[in-house]
Amino acid sequence: MLNPDASRKLLCVTQTAEGAAGYNGSMIHEIFPVGPLQCNCSIVADETTREAMVIDPGDDIEDVLALIAKHNLQVKQIVITHAHIDHVGGAMKLRAATGAPILLNQNDYALLKMLDVQAAWIGMETPAPVEIDQSITTGDIVKAGSHTASILHTPGHTEGSICLYFAAEQKLIAGDTLFAGSIGRTDLPGGSMQKIMQSLHGTVLALPDDTVVVPGHGPLTTIGEERENNPFLIQR
Ligand SMILES: [Zn+2]
Repeated sequence: MLNPDASRKLLCVTQTAEGAAGYNGSMIHEIFPVGPLQCNCSIVADETTREAMVIDPGDDIEDVLALIAKHNLQVKQIVITHAHIDHVGGAMKLRAATGAPILLNQNDYALLKMLDVQAAWIGMETPAPVEIDQSITTGDIVKAGSHTASILHTPGHTEGSICLYFAAEQKLIAGDTLFAGSIGRTDLPGGSMQKIMQSLHGTVLALPDDTVVVPGHGPLTTIGEERENNPFLIQR
């Protein structure tokens, strides 16, 4: 829930993962801001099998479905990085349209019950209650065909915040834990500055420098760039 005025621009990346053992296909990755707070929604898919996952369908589900149709994809999983309304608000619509299960860390279930309060914060309409099909945490794997991501539980912005780490593609979908030049706010219910710093230094910065970071809002960055220049992370 940062950078509400980030420019609305469509970033389409079709990435070929090199060096992954036994791996021949390439990964479709569409990143596009949705809703009034411009949450970065991602569609990750396997070009060969056309299986996909959608991460953080906060709003504008008709745009999500148009891209799904354009690439002829089948959505297998809906993954939510944390239960803020701008990331989860469209999940039920997408589940209804695709039949895919919704995955969220259980430590955010309490926040999910406060969607009406969250809607009032930002002057949005309250979405219908969101049902979670499965809790995910560190050690779990989500996948779109041959592309797999490890779930990293990174509490701090919220208790149940997670990141998705695509090791073969050297990419991190970071939710609102890490931004280009900033970190997630911790002043909302469930936030903790101490926990987000532990998550960033203990988990996120443990990743290789050339890992591309897709934050929950705003432009892409890399772990190395943030390690070097992020004012919240520079070790003095
Ligand atoms: Zn958030």
